[in-house]
Amino acid sequence: MKTFLKTIGNVFKKPVTTKYPFEKTFIPDDYRGLIGFDENLCIWCRRCEMVCPPGAIVFSQDMEGKQTYHFNRAVCIYCGECVRACPKEGAIFQTAEPAPCALKAENINNGWNKLYTDALASRELYAAEKKRKAAEKAAADKMAAAKKEEENKTGIDPDIIAG
Ligand code: SF4
Ligand code: SF4
Repeated sequence: MKTFLKTIGNVFKKPVTTKYPFEKTFIPDDYRGLIGFDENLCIWCRRCEMVCPPGAIVFSQDMEGKQTYHFNRAVCIYCGECVRACPKEGAIFQTAEPAPCALKAENINNGWNKLYTDALASRELYAAEKKRKAAEKAAADKMAAAKKEEENKTGIDPDIIAG
């Protein structure tokens, strides 16, 4: 009888569940939602990429050295490690916006792995080009110094002698 009355009582009580998706669910203040990024504050140190456990952040780089931030919401586990590791407040931040369901195109196997690999390769290319240019400059500086030394010794421009 007691159980029966309790059941009847529950029929007239306000439901404790939320009628999602018709009603918005309660979001606590410290909710870890979508990751935001402000390229105007970023110092491009890539710490966020380094600490990201699943590899949801990657930076690509063009041959001028300009970096571009890429984030995949379907790969992110919303741990907040990137935000904690960032030395520049506000450059990367956790919003209270729940992540929408990932589209098939955003799935890890549908392009993200390739984008990630290509981004790392773009940085290697840039680093190799930077190294090549530095070596070229060092060789040119060395030649100029040798020429100057010769000129100081003889008082004659070695290029004139060679000519
Ligand atoms: S919240 Fe975690 S998983 Fe998501 S991008 Fe930041 S470090 Fe990576
Ligand atoms: S850790 Fe912060 S400053 Fe460094 S690259 Fe990431 S967002 Fe930019």
